[in-house]
Amino acid sequence: MSVSHVVRTSELARTEGRSHEFERGIFVDGAVEPVAGDTLTITNPATGEIVGRATKADAAAVDRAVRSAHAAQADWARRGYADRGAVLRAGAEALLEHVEELIGGLVAEQGKTVREARIELRKAADTLEHYAGLAKEVRAAYVHGLDPGVDGRVLRKPLGVVAAIVPWNFPTTLLANKLGPALVCGNTVVAKPADTTPFTTLRLAEILTEAGLPPGVLNVVTGTGPEAGEALVTRLVPFTGSTPTGERVMALAAKGTKRVTLELGGSDPMIICDDADLKKAASAAAMGRFYNCGQACLAIKRVYVFASVADEVIEAIAAKASRLRLGIGTDEGVQLGPMHTERQRAIMEDQIARTLSGGGEVVAGGGRPDDERLRHGWFHEPTVVVDPPHGSPMAREEVFGPALPIWRVQDFDQAIRLANDSPFGLGSSVWTASLDRAERAAAELDCGYTWINSPTKVYDELPFGGVGGSGYGKEHGSEAFDYYTDQKSVVVKRAT
Ligand code: NAD
Repeated sequence: MSVSHVVRTSELARTEGRSHEFERGIFVDGAVEPVAGDTLTITNPATGEIVGRATKADAAAVDRAVRSAHAAQADWARRGYADRGAVLRAGAEALLEHVEELIGGLVAEQGKTVREARIELRKAADTLEHYAGLAKEVRAAYVHGLDPGVDGRVLRKPLGVVAAIVPWNFPTTLLANKLGPALVCGNTVVAKPADTTPFTTLRLAEILTEAGLPPGVLNVVTGTGPEAGEALVTRLVPFTGSTPTGERVMALAAKGTKRVTLELGGSDPMIICDDADLKKAASAAAMGRFYNCGQACLAIKRVYVFASVADEVIEAIAAKASRLRLGIGTDEGVQLGPMHTERQRAIMEDQIARTLSGGGEVVAGGGRPDDERLRHGWFHEPTVVVDPPHGSPMAREEVFGPALPIWRVQDFDQAIRLANDSPFGLGSSVWTASLDRAERAAAELDCGYTWINSPTKVYDELPFGGVGGSGYGKEHGSEAFDYYTDQKSVVVKRAT
């Protein structure tokens, strides 16, 4: 075992995107271990500089983390909902206090802008706080008089140890979506961040532990999907990631009949009708597509606009895309960072090229920025393509980056048909002044969320989750409790 110097991730905050090397091991029993064995090298997507090294956890390391979570679970479950909620609230408050400290590390390892990192970290704290509040509201059922003298009740029991696997686009909020309900319900957690974004998650685990989370209740294994991820299939696997990986996780979980919830990819359509507030709709489309450099599951990935108003909308979206300021996330005024990895950029470039080979017009962007300062990062211009073939990759595949296809449609029926013509079913939105069209969109769009005349903001109060290739199961809302508990029926027959 090679042990090098260990530096707290908090020091990443001081790097502000500059080259530093940090070394961090996995987080087990309430503490970060020294880096050990094989390592992952983490690079800054904007500059190519090395941010640090983290342990590339193998099956034995994952096993230790799972054992730690098992050992802590019974005591954690015994503490009761109100008490667990209080611990979670203290964690949420501590996270809020550390937001400014965490921003530097998140920007350095993920590539997003400082503003996006701040929004993400605050949202993660909000979600933990939301579930802390719900802790006293958890209910189950009771039936009086099933038969004469017979009552029934439903117990909610924690599952035990759950394995939270998350991707790199929003490392902290996606984890908080799982931690909130899992911890409130009395489970303990082994989290696995993406192998490119380990540091913020490790520091988050430290902050929650310093705020009162008992050792072992949350463990973090840093490692690759095929090695650490596959080793980590415990009682329940709430998984967020791509559709192919989700299918693989589901297949693994079948052995031993483990539960999974799958929050997978999306290709969310937006329909803009001729009676819509076109300015607001264009803003929502640009914001919804280019936020986080287009790397969001719920991004607006396809726009269908009525032909009679299409020119105005296309011009507005293209103008917004062209005005966005690309750059290194820590630079003042930057609105769009790099893509997360060279591979992600290559995949998107290939999707655009294959699409354009069949037709379509590029009305904004189209390639890499011509800026000497950005040549070491994985930057791509915000790109808008009009009327490519509807069977092309930009219509059929998930485009996980800053590129938006727009189609002109003749009427609402065609818009709904094309919007539903996708293997995915995560979110959708419609912009219209017509109550009838709005209601039809809500009823007929095949997906888990529809926004009407609204930017695509996710609310903790409402359940969220996809259909079809976008997975199944719900996060957010009190509905999430159903996925982190077993519901057991008990029948009691009185003697008289
Ligand atoms: P990914 O599927 O490659 O990786 C996600 C996580 O799974 C990572 O931690 C990875 O290491 C792990 N993993 C990879 N292979 C594994 C395996 N064989 N067994 C177990 N774990 C494994 O996804 P990505 O490319 O990192 O993330 C982007 C994808 O995530 C996009 O498709 C996006 O739409 C989706 N996403 C979905 C939601 C949602 O809530 N629906 C939210 C964010 C992102």
